[in-house]
Amino acid sequence: MYDIVIIGAGTAGLSAAIYGVRAGKKTLVLDGAFYGGQIVNTQVVENYPGIKSVSGFDFVYGLYTQATELGAEYKNEKVVGINKLEDGIEVVSENGKYMAKTVILAMGGSNKKLGIDREVELTGRGVSYCATCDGAFYKGKDVAVIGGGNTAVDDAIVLSGYCNKVYLIHRRDTFRAQEVLVERAKSKDNIEFIMDSTVSKFLGNDKVEGIEIQNIKTGENFSLDVAGVFVAVGVQPATDIVKELVKIDDNGYIVADESCKTTVPGIFVAGDVRTKEVRQLVTAAADGAVAAIAATQYIDASM
Ligand code: NAP
Repeated sequence: MYDIVIIGAGTAGLSAAIYGVRAGKKTLVLDGAFYGGQIVNTQVVENYPGIKSVSGFDFVYGLYTQATELGAEYKNEKVVGINKLEDGIEVVSENGKYMAKTVILAMGGSNKKLGIDREVELTGRGVSYCATCDGAFYKGKDVAVIGGGNTAVDDAIVLSGYCNKVYLIHRRDTFRAQEVLVERAKSKDNIEFIMDSTVSKFLGNDKVEGIEIQNIKTGENFSLDVAGVFVAVGVQPATDIVKELVKIDDNGYIVADESCKTTVPGIFVAGDVRTKEVRQLVTAAADGAVAAIAATQYIDASM
């Protein structure tokens, strides 16, 4: 019997693990992918208080080593189900079953798709969801980034470092991304902003050779020759395994307030998968702490 089983080894999950083990609780972290979550795809993190600049990977590696050296167990196992039983909570992974007194849901999300024709077929053949992972394949070439959030603007800046030209295509005339990032992107000579526009079609046969774009204000259609398209249109919360268990809101996020308590006693939620206004690294870490403390109090109260 574990005290706390955490599903997801991103910033929220690993922060929860640090707080869980430091409270003396037997803590297990399960993740079907390599630990790290979304932040491993961010080249440079410059907005985590106290750390001027760090790569996303180094940041999360620090969290991982801190959690495991303190005594948290980590297993690279995909969780496929969670059942609330009379004597605890059963967590079912592809490799086995674990019993827990409490569970912290920290699954984050996966990249949203654009939803246009041939997107899936061309993924890996010019369509990518990770500039940090795939950007180097497009050295010296022209590429497009789709989206107007922090990820898209961040991606455009990263790609401008080795691509010939980067088109940043956003469906509105203002960005959701932080102003400091937008200003940095504007200072790059090889980033061109294409506003009020959406991609309507991928061009090319077995790989991307261009895109067709529509200006949604004027209705004008035009095409661009690009070898790569980086889609950064947000994150889909990963709630499949719990949608019958805890309350989910209309946008797919797990309902919980700042206490990180879900609608099921003993099950807590942390990070981007929770209903919240601000999804940042620092709020993910904060959620991890709050959820682990709440789990600890729940365990201690039931002893
Ligand atoms: P996001 O903030 O949700 O932004 C998604 C962007 O994609 C929005 O600009 C949205 O347009 C656009 N979009 C959505 N669906 C679209 C579609 N079908 N076609 C065209 N455009 C579409 O997502 P994100 O940038 O991935 O960021 C996710 C979270 O992580 C955010 O909270 C962000 O702040 C955070 N993040 C933080 C850091 C950091 O702290 N360093 C780095 C990266 C990300 P609209 O604006 O019109 O809705």
